[in-house]
Amino acid sequence: MESLAEDLATMVRRPLSEDHIAAIRRIGDERTVAADTIFLRAGAPADEFFYVLDGGFQVWDEARDRPLNPNILGAGQFIGEIAFLTGGRMLDTMRSVSPARVLAAPRDAMLRLMAIEPEMSDILISVFASRRRAMLERNASAITVVGPADDRQVRAVAAFAARNKFPVTLVDPATDAAEMLGERCAFNPADGPKVIFASGEVLADCTPLAIAERIGIAFMPTEATFDVVIVGGGPAGLSAAVYAGAEGLRALVVEDLAIGGQAGTSSRIENYMGFPTGISGADLCFRGEVQAMKFGTTFAIPHRVTAIDPEGGHWCLRLDNGAKVQALSVIVATGVEYRRLQLDRFEAFEGAGIYYAATQVEARWCHEAEVVVIGGGNSAGQAAMFLSRTAKHVHVLVRGASLAASMSSYLVERLTRAANITIHYRAQLTGLQGDAALQAVTIKGGPDGQEWLLAARAVFVMVGAAPNTGWLGCRVAVDKQGFVLTGADAGPDAAALGRYATSCPGIYAVGDVRAGSVKRVASGVGEGSMVISEVWRHLNPQSLKV
Ligand SMILES: Cc1cc2nc3c(=O)[nH]c(=O)nc-3n(C[C@H](O)[C@H](O)[C@H](O)COP(=O)(O)OP(=O)(O)OC[C@H]3O[C@@H](n4cnc5c(N)ncnc54)[C@H](O)[C@@H]3O)c2cc1C
Repeated sequence: MESLAEDLATMVRRPLSEDHIAAIRRIGDERTVAADTIFLRAGAPADEFFYVLDGGFQVWDEARDRPLNPNILGAGQFIGEIAFLTGGRMLDTMRSVSPARVLAAPRDAMLRLMAIEPEMSDILISVFASRRRAMLERNASAITVVGPADDRQVRAVAAFAARNKFPVTLVDPATDAAEMLGERCAFNPADGPKVIFASGEVLADCTPLAIAERIGIAFMPTEATFDVVIVGGGPAGLSAAVYAGAEGLRALVVEDLAIGGQAGTSSRIENYMGFPTGISGADLCFRGEVQAMKFGTTFAIPHRVTAIDPEGGHWCLRLDNGAKVQALSVIVATGVEYRRLQLDRFEAFEGAGIYYAATQVEARWCHEAEVVVIGGGNSAGQAAMFLSRTAKHVHVLVRGASLAASMSSYLVERLTRAANITIHYRAQLTGLQGDAALQAVTIKGGPDGQEWLLAARAVFVMVGAAPNTGWLGCRVAVDKQGFVLTGADAGPDAAALGRYATSCPGIYAVGDVRAGSVKRVASGVGEGSMVISEVWRHLNPQSLKV
């Protein structure tokens, strides 16, 4: 399978040329740094680019007072990683190991330089992305979460971190490592989950939003009016983000949970053109995110758009934290959401045994455990195959008597052949048991139709999906299931504006959320790219008259 790690590891790394360095010198200034000094602290804004002329730097873990890894970044290299592109904050603390000299350039000027020097941009972006990949692979993380592994908050943070591709280290509060951290950073490990940054700072609010705000990905520019705001960062929204940036539009992506959407939870996408051995959805979408950033598109995560209203000739989007964003046009790319089950204490176990995605993170929690996958579609089949690598046994519960109509035959064949997967036809989940986390379930059905108990620690619910359109209110026309109507389906006025235009001028819809869409990664990506030409015409009406 294609992997970002492999791709980046084999990517030829070229140094910056003399011409590149001269160009940086024109927009920057030279600085000296004394030996053994904290030069950049984790949490500081990543608003400058540093090219090392002399001396060396090491990634430093202030919380533990030691280097995070043995590597020394020396002359001819540069400091930074993906956070520089996002306008986020430093994930790592950098400490000089000898007297050093650096060229420092402001971020805005550097991004402008990268836009006109594509060769230099390629070098920087590939190194930034490979550093983030190396952090993830080595789990050499500047962020530590101290808390019980089965705690719902801890799991939410771990899943959020993994899906947004920033590494965190989990430390059990009952260990010596937690005690040592507690002493150094002045907190009590038994006093509930805590987040510790490389600077030694302790965050008591162990939630995805608090961490996102602290590392700068929750960034929310409210002062500007964007040409286009893309709501949803799945494949369709990401593709729109790349094309909007490439066309020079001021674009913002607002994403509720994690870049990648449903595709980000797929361990292996085998039918996306160009990847004959498959690619993980998270890797594919990370590439799209970096590509969109390169073109200047901004991302704000995790923020949920809750309403959209006209205001002074443009659109005003309201977010769950009360903030407002102004846009001249809006692309709805909010996809679909898995349906929940009507069972006692179902919500209590969400995130603590009940999951809607089977990624590496959830797979780790299922190690050597009995797990249940509910659903008869391809996503359920893929999840079962993926979980069977780590789980003791995977039980697939299917309502009907066959999978022929709902699952691709190659997947049915793989499930049937796997020794540790059992498909239970005409079966359903009837009960959930456990205290803080799920410990067992009751299932009705199977050969004799009886109810039986299974000591399952995880249930993956994949039972069809409903469109994420509640936040649109009655703003645009939708079909009976709530999918957004576009083009001719939304009426003659929308048809005249374009294939992805909704009944409301200036609002467009693409991907799974759109009525009649194909519900595939490739079709979402196609729609996301095509909608930008319609948005462009909306923003530049005079172009129609030529
Ligand atoms: C496990 C699994 C495996 C799959 N495998 C394949 C495959 O192999 N091949 C294939 O072609 N397709 C596959 N699919 C289907 C494919 O992933 C989807 O068709 C595709 O992701 C749809 O993209 P999208 O951008 O339209 O929506 P989504 O991927 O659903 O993304 C929508 C995004 O919008 C965000 N959002 C929702 N509401 C709001 C809001 N109010 N404010 C802000 N953000 C919001 C969500 O958090 C989400 O990230 C799979 C799906 C799953 C679940």
